[in-house]
Amino acid sequence: MRLSVVDTERCIGCQSCMFACARRLGEGGLASTCIGVRSIGGMERGFKVVVCRACDDPPCASVCPVGALQVRKGGGVRLDAAKCIGCGHCRDACVIGAVFWDDETNKPMICTHCGYCARFCPHGVLSVVKGKNVESAGLADNAGKAEKARKAERVEEAEGAEKDSSPPQAGMAAGAEGPDGGAADATRKAEEVEANA
Ligand code: SF4
Ligand code: SF4
Ligand code: SF4
Repeated sequence: MRLSVVDTERCIGCQSCMFACARRLGEGGLASTCIGVRSIGGMERGFKVVVCRACDDPPCASVCPVGALQVRKGGGVRLDAAKCIGCGHCRDACVIGAVFWDDETNKPMICTHCGYCARFCPHGVLSVVKGKNVESAGLADNAGKAEKARKAERVEEAEGAEKDSSPPQAGMAAGAEGPDGGAADATRKAEEVEANA
């Protein structure tokens, strides 16, 4: 079993997953979580979810000089806090930044793939899957369908915008000025009234 980030497009940045993780660890705030949600440029562009991806051959474990990170069955690692000397090599070794840091204990915090956060995600961004990939749980198919639907919506929006901004047709009746003609006309009339006042 491991945690899987199924579809970040559906993430709304509510941070429920982060609060859930902290709560599971007995903490109140967001300082102690093993999952992070970060904006990639405001609500329009969405969010990225940073959490351990359960490497088969985890670099975080191979750089640990004291063997404090044991490779987990199914991917990822388990921390033996008693062995850890707080050197931070594991944090540097994880290319996606999924080794979070506990400043109080000066030790890493790494997802244990318990799936607690997924239970609190209101949009199905996170899921617990068996085996190595999302396909094994049939989730990739759903994610693929969702992506196709989103693409179709984007195409429709783009076509609609193109229509709205297209120039008036050659055969348009005299006096008609396209979509904004009425508004422009009203503005001109208002300006004339003001000038004459
Ligand atoms: S913490 Fe990073 S390097 Fe270690 S198993 Fe998870 S994703 Fe891989
Ligand atoms: S911080 Fe702890 S777990 Fe990470 S590499 Fe150093 S000793 Fe190992
Ligand atoms: S709970 Fe789900 S929607 Fe909310 S921030 Fe976490 S991943 Fe995103």
